[in-house]
Amino acid sequence: MPRVIVSAAEEILEKEYKCLNHGFVRLIDYMGSDESIVQAARVSYGKGTKTIREDRTLIRYLMRHHHTTPFEMVELKFHVKLPIFVARQWIRHRTANVNEYSGRYSIMPEEFYLPEKKDIKPQSTTNRQGRSEEEIPLEIRQKVLNLLMEEQKSSFNGYNEMLESNVSRELARINLPLSLYTQWYWKIDLHNLFHFLRLRIDDHAQYEIRVYAKAMGEMVNRVAPLAWEAFEDYIFNSITLSKTELTALKEFFPEEIPNQKLEQLDLSSYEIAELAEKLKKIRKL
Ligand SMILES: Cc1cc2nc3c(=O)[nH]c(=O)nc-3n(C[C@H](O)[C@H](O)[C@H](O)COP(=O)(O)OP(=O)(O)OC[C@H]3O[C@@H](n4cnc5c(N)ncnc54)[C@H](O)[C@@H]3O)c2cc1C
Repeated sequence: MPRVIVSAAEEILEKEYKCLNHGFVRLIDYMGSDESIVQAARVSYGKGTKTIREDRTLIRYLMRHHHTTPFEMVELKFHVKLPIFVARQWIRHRTANVNEYSGRYSIMPEEFYLPEKKDIKPQSTTNRQGRSEEEIPLEIRQKVLNLLMEEQKSSFNGYNEMLESNVSRELARINLPLSLYTQWYWKIDLHNLFHFLRLRIDDHAQYEIRVYAKAMGEMVNRVAPLAWEAFEDYIFNSITLSKTELTALKEFFPEEIPNQKLEQLDLSSYEIAELAEKLKKIRKL
């Protein structure tokens, strides 16, 4: 099969999707698309399936049943400019290939993240790791910005002074704050990218990394739209219920849903059968 070219992805190659005040994410290259997922899956399922399932059905089946390796056949390479505190969260995802701008080799540009006033929020009382949706007085928001700017300026002045005194770049940089921007190339396969996006588009992730993850989600939708749709349906917008939760909810589930009713749902015949199985399993708890 010749190299897969996806016109929707070609249109955005190298284009900057602006993120935060100085950041961006760019899709530099991609390998494969929905077609490659299907092609790889058919190696394991054999030719017979080709006539039974259309590409969309097959991709949705794979996603639903966590048959993940065909998704690894698609790769995406990004160029990202991001504040160091976002990079620290991002780099915890170990299944990508990374090459970062070197502050030992090059002078760091004077570019810092400053939140927009609307994003300055108080500490959440329900989530120790997050901010609440409450408003914070305007004068406090202004104070936050002033404090951040003063500290950024002062640390960068110190950095410049050290460089002017011919101190090595690798030492001069060590007091620069986490709000400074860095850049990297980041390459990952689609299976692991979905894992990253599931965690980082989610509301529990910090707003600043969510901005990037959402932009990358749009890019994935161009490279492999059927896989993206399946990811949204079966992973991102799905929920897991524990055994204890299901046991508590059991009373609300009907004994049996007649086939006629199930067939009226907007589900494929496979999904209807799977749903019936799930309901049966819940009743048995
Ligand atoms: C909302 C949120 C809050 C967080 N808070 C904290 C925090 O307070 N402190 C903190 O330290 N971290 C925190 N993290 C980071 C989190 O614990 C993970 O390190 C991060 O999300 C990467 O997840 P991962 O290991 O599944 O991903 P990846 O590194 O991308 O790995 C993908 C998958 O590959 C497998 N894998 C990869 N490498 C290994 C390995 N060496 N051994 C076994 N399996 C492997 C695992 O199945 C893993 O799920 C937080 C993350 C989120 C999303």
